[in-house]
Amino acid sequence: MSSQASTAASETIDGFHLVIDALKLNGIDTIFGLPGIPITDLTRMAQAEGMRVISFRHEQHAGNAAAAAGFLTQKPGICLTVSAPGFLNGLTALTNATTNCFPMILISGSSEREIVDLQQGDYEEMDQLAIAKPLCKAAFRVLHAEDIGVGIARAIRSALSGRPGGVYLDLPAKLFAQTMDAAAGKRSLIEVVDPAPRQIPAPDSVQRALALLKGAKKPLILLGKGAAYAQADAEIRELVERTGIPYLPMSMAKGLLPDTHEQSASAARSYVLAEADVVMLVGARLNWLLSHGKGKTWGNEKAMARQFIQIDIAPTEIDSNVAIAAPLIGDIGSCVSALLGGVDKNWAKPPADWTGAIADRKDKNLSKMAETLAKNPSPMNFHSALNVVRNIVKDNPEAMLVNEGANTLDFTRSIVDMYLPRKRLDVGTWGIMGIGMGFAVAAAVTTGKPVIAIEGDSAFGFSGMEVETICRYNLPVCVVVFNNNGVYRGTDVNPSGTADVAPTVFVKNARYEMMMQAFGGVGVMASTPAELDKAMREAVASGKPTLINAIIDETAGTESGRITSLNPSTAKK
Ligand code: ADP
Repeated sequence: MSSQASTAASETIDGFHLVIDALKLNGIDTIFGLPGIPITDLTRMAQAEGMRVISFRHEQHAGNAAAAAGFLTQKPGICLTVSAPGFLNGLTALTNATTNCFPMILISGSSEREIVDLQQGDYEEMDQLAIAKPLCKAAFRVLHAEDIGVGIARAIRSALSGRPGGVYLDLPAKLFAQTMDAAAGKRSLIEVVDPAPRQIPAPDSVQRALALLKGAKKPLILLGKGAAYAQADAEIRELVERTGIPYLPMSMAKGLLPDTHEQSASAARSYVLAEADVVMLVGARLNWLLSHGKGKTWGNEKAMARQFIQIDIAPTEIDSNVAIAAPLIGDIGSCVSALLGGVDKNWAKPPADWTGAIADRKDKNLSKMAETLAKNPSPMNFHSALNVVRNIVKDNPEAMLVNEGANTLDFTRSIVDMYLPRKRLDVGTWGIMGIGMGFAVAAAVTTGKPVIAIEGDSAFGFSGMEVETICRYNLPVCVVVFNNNGVYRGTDVNPSGTADVAPTVFVKNARYEMMMQAFGGVGVMASTPAELDKAMREAVASGKPTLINAIIDETAGTESGRITSLNPSTAKK
């Protein structure tokens, strides 16, 4: 059924088709969602009109998929939900997307305005717009069919322009059935022109940054996921290589340059953060993930003398944690290109004592790591299992890697090298658990490449039911559950003597692989690196939905992984 066919007789068009046409007009071809009142027909009609509609088992995962699709494609990912409960389920993902600066639009159907506003008790009654507003970048409601074009245009522009983020679009049930003249309806739609305009940095701010960089004795470039999002890969690589400055990637910026690049300082992270005298942040914020730019991580009193250059599209990010000596406001592509204009053949590479000291530490740490990875303990531990993943990603650099958990996240981030930009999706700015299967679905749907999801057994539990979604759409996703029988590890004991197990302990020897088998996918239990290697290689080669239950020593893993310092009772006093 095309919108033409459905409207030809009366030459009218309804709200459903105006929404679909407005999205399509703006190049949006996929909806992640979950059908139900009042948007079931919207999902059916969108599919009939040629859009890809990926239906989930819970809205949070549809929302996470939309957010990841937004990050990967620079187009807002669309999540479609029913009213109140479905809307709330999607809201966590919308807020997480906003926190991560990922463009997405949560479109929720809503109940009758008149009844909601008088609080007369409608089906799924809720003032969704008011609730969404403080949790996202922008929120809009459309009441009339003739405003759908404007509503969608505003949502797209809000999600993409400046610092990207999440947008809420409230579409009351009545809107979908409204009709208007088809030709007028078509004219009312807006194709958004240049939704994320380039923002050229001011020339004097470029000169200020260059001067600081030139005077540095121990410079460092820090790449964040904003740099990955910006898709200025060639310019960033050129800047790093032409200046010769060592760089550190934040976790989702891994692969912007291959982690094996000789200028990567990842293996000397503590050293460079504590020692660098000028640090240039490229699409990275000085939040908790970077110890707010001060304290022990940054060398304590040495931090007083350190100067920062910060490239960011959001001017209000500057000075948010420490003073920024040289803010460079603009889009990363334009800012990096402007800097490159000042980096000519006469540019002096950083002093050899700085790069040499980094190289020494890297060599030492990398050989220590190689020793640990080569061990083959029984049962498997995080390192011996991740050595397998590391080799498989090396052999399949195109594959997408999704990663969440506590220890599983921390170890994977440091052990598994990435070789290409935007191949790693993880828990991001919040450290949120539950993104796993939603991100994996989005990664498969938007890239068509094999997806490897390395999941802690606790983290997997948040979105595990979506393995049915993965099987239903036959997506090339290989989920590896690092099963150590519990949150952090599986050995905690209930001290009270009652029959309940400790709060962090799960069912021992759980058969996670059978969850994938239940829906027709491949399920494998792997107790040794050799078994894990075989199962993963088969999964990547076949593209069949696969879940590998990787049995990890239940005593392996530390409380809260690497963020023990944030846990009030285990924090170092
Ligand atoms: P990480 O967690 O990797 O350190 P953050 O999410 O903290 O990264 O930081 C990303 C930063 O990138 C945000 O401050 C955001 O405003 C910025 N940003 C996002 N897109 C662009 C862009 N196209 N140009 C410039 N800055 C951007």
